Amino acid sequence: MPPLKKLIIFGGVLLAVIVIIIFPSKKTTEEKFDVLESGETLINYVKEIEGKPPAGRRQFIKEKLIQFAVPFTVMPFDTVLRSGGRHDTLHGENIIVTMGARKRKIVVGAHCDAVPNAPGANDNGSGVALILELIRTLKSHEFNHTVDFCFFDLEESGLIGSAVYVQRYDHSFTPVAMINLDVEGTGDEIFVGPVGGGDDDIIMKYIHEARDERQFPYEENEIYPGSDHESFARAPMENISISMVAKGDVEKLVKWTKTGYRNIENPDDVPVVLKVMHTPEDKSEYMTPEALYMSYQFTKTTLISLDDGEP
Ligand SMILES: [Zn+2]
Repeated sequence: MPPLKKLIIFGGVLLAVIVIIIFPSKKTTEEKFDVLESGETLINYVKEIEGKPPAGRRQFIKEKLIQFAVPFTVMPFDTVLRSGGRHDTLHGENIIVTMGARKRKIVVGAHCDAVPNAPGANDNGSGVALILELIRTLKSHEFNHTVDFCFFDLEESGLIGSAVYVQRYDHSFTPVAMINLDVEGTGDEIFVGPVGGGDDDIIMKYIHEARDERQFPYEENEIYPGSDHESFARAPMENISISMVAKGDVEKLVKWTKTGYRNIENPDDVPVVLKVMHTPEDKSEYMTPEALYMSYQFTKTTLISLDDGEP
């Protein structure tokens, strides 16, 4: 064999070896990246969405889903708000990622809008961050149900996006339960509700499983601040909300909700979570990766055990 031919063959073999060595290691790195979940990942999503105007918030979500290579549908709607003789037409868009193809459906939702003049980091960039990370890490998961991951629009204008979703719900899919995520970025305690009333018997079993498995500080209450879970309660469909709050906040939030959200006179009665919510100070700098990660893990455990446990 001429030396040149030998060299070519040797080179070819060497190249093949290099390809075999490099290719699997590259794949492993990608797989590791796919399961990387952390509070830092979550707070980075919040930093990207905070301060954006309504269309910018929706655009951010769409860009992330394209980046994850996850298909999504957009549910546009227009609504007329009447107040004080004024008529304002508001445009909204729910963004929905559907996984699985069974006839029973689980819904996981978070509103993506914010009140005007608030950056909307904790309320509710935090919920958006959790849903994005659930989608990213579960995109190859084999669900036993159909799961709709929803970013609801115009919650702050009166739970409109979630009401439109419920109104247009395809009842050939039997609803199993809806999990709502609203305000997940501060404090160190999981707050679940509204418990009772006959529309959470299925989901509470799995919430309690997640509580027992995760052992996070946990409180539940029959009284709970308003959010998109109410659109499902009216249907009626099984629903529950999960939030993160500071220790001592639950009692104050319950009291405040009972008054119909009246202004709180005594500063000691103001829940920590309300000090920045719906103000220009609702920024990621007041949030912690730990709070986001705690509610993320709690929600993921609940979702997986619900999907595994229900027929
Ligand atoms: Zn909210």
